[in-house]
Amino acid sequence: MDFQTACIHGSEKKYDVTGAVSVPIFQSATFAHPGVGESTGYDYSRQQNPTREHLELTLARLENGTDAMAFSSGMAALTMLMELFSPGDHIIASDDLYGGSHRLFFHLSVKNGLKFSLVNTSDTGLIEAAVTPKTKAVFIETPTNPMMQVTDIAAVSRLARKHNLLVIADNTFLTPYLQRPLELGADIVMHSGTKYLGGHNDTLAGFLVVRDSGLSKRLRFLYKTTGACLSPFDSWLLIRSIKTLPVRVERQQENALEIARWLVGQAKIKAVHYPGLESHPQYEISRRQASGFGAMISFEADSEITAKRILERVRIIQYAESLGGVESLITYPMLQTHADVPEAEREAKGVNNRLLRLSVGLESRDDLLDDLNQAINI
Ligand SMILES: *Cc1c(COP(=O)(O)O)cnc(C)c1O
Repeated sequence: MDFQTACIHGSEKKYDVTGAVSVPIFQSATFAHPGVGESTGYDYSRQQNPTREHLELTLARLENGTDAMAFSSGMAALTMLMELFSPGDHIIASDDLYGGSHRLFFHLSVKNGLKFSLVNTSDTGLIEAAVTPKTKAVFIETPTNPMMQVTDIAAVSRLARKHNLLVIADNTFLTPYLQRPLELGADIVMHSGTKYLGGHNDTLAGFLVVRDSGLSKRLRFLYKTTGACLSPFDSWLLIRSIKTLPVRVERQQENALEIARWLVGQAKIKAVHYPGLESHPQYEISRRQASGFGAMISFEADSEITAKRILERVRIIQYAESLGGVESLITYPMLQTHADVPEAEREAKGVNNRLLRLSVGLESRDDLLDDLNQAINI
């Protein structure tokens, strides 16, 4: 089954006898048992619910995994994933991370005895140099948020196998439509389903997807124990959204490439970070491991004043956190997603008072360019 078809017919499992084309919303917390010691396959919705199951089967298929778990948010997924590790375990992570992941690692996980090393994971040598006898996993985000650094997933996976490490890939920015880390050797894919998978800036969701059955068993045990599961209604919204994932992402990235090229030519814009520009340092790796470049762009204005003016002057593009939806959004990472990252660390990565991040939506490309033009070039 092709990817596009799988988005629409993600699971052949039938849940009702009416012939409903849309998967029903099973708004039930619990399920009656046919007899003592018997089960319909559904017992209690924290563990499994038919609507959520349909979504999970779909996502497992899209990522080419064997099991997917749907969570109430991306952070809920990652928080539970940290339960796989024990005090003393060491994790190597990308040094440019979604701010919430950074906050989880350095405020909560360290309290539980985990240790982290942040390195530029686009340089595999730096990962290898950071491996210790206690290292258990490499956590990569690719492209990274917000600097759009790209990590060679296959190379990291080869290295990880040599040292017996798990590779966890946050695939939020590219979605399985453009990049499938499990096929490249990663062990666990994580998503903020709030972004492209949800796609409409209206629902929070998160996912973990795996291929290995032992890992799936361990995670399923944590899943039913911790309980941050996605509700039946929100599962249904995600099922609905994923049906249009390929067409949305395709058009969004077309818009993004045009906008990135236009930004490069603006006198008040000093740098544009987009993996689809040939000048991007990992342009070749991006082409090799993904079938597209996505629709996230970050760029640096010539001054703090210009950056703030752009945020205040945009009219169609909205100044708001989040990304991946049909509405274009612009954010100020320094004050929003990355406010809790220490200043020196943030500045060193280029997340400064001039950096803006743009999530390109589905509005007309001309309207978006006009909007940016009037905001940047008064
Ligand atoms: C938004 C985001 C998250 C967190 O997901 P939520 O659904 O907001 O909890 C994690 N990683 C990346 C790359 C994100 O963009």
